[in-house]
Amino acid sequence: MPQFQSKPRTTNQRQVIFDYIKTTSLSHPTAEVIFESVRKKLPRISFGTVYRNLLVLEDQGLIIPLYYTKDHVRYDAIMENHYHFICQRCDKVENISMEEMLELNKQIAKRHELQIDYHRIYFYGLCGDCKKV
Ligand SMILES: [Zn+2]
Ligand SMILES: [Zn+2]
Repeated sequence: MPQFQSKPRTTNQRQVIFDYIKTTSLSHPTAEVIFESVRKKLPRISFGTVYRNLLVLEDQGLIIPLYYTKDHVRYDAIMENHYHFICQRCDKVENISMEEMLELNKQIAKRHELQIDYHRIYFYGLCGDCKKV
């Protein structure tokens, strides 16, 4: 019997969700945006199922949640070390890379005798478009 027939349904759902986060041009979608998009492919999926799968993907280290305000979570499938700028007017989230920060974990770990796995930094302000208005 071919193996794919016994593949659990949830794996497919999770793959569709993960593929969407990886390929969307809307960077860092919210759970609501992910749900609206995934529903086009899987019409019977519920928001709860999408949300549970996001938690599993997060546990598996495949996506990173960005808790950038108390009411918003967005999801990022870019796992390379990078930071985020959040526009406080239009809610745009931009990726910021800072080569100079790569040594930070090592330096802090050494100074405080800790093991540092990762750190997060958010920058808040106005994006290029909003700054002009
Ligand atoms: Zn803006
Ligand atoms: Zn990002």
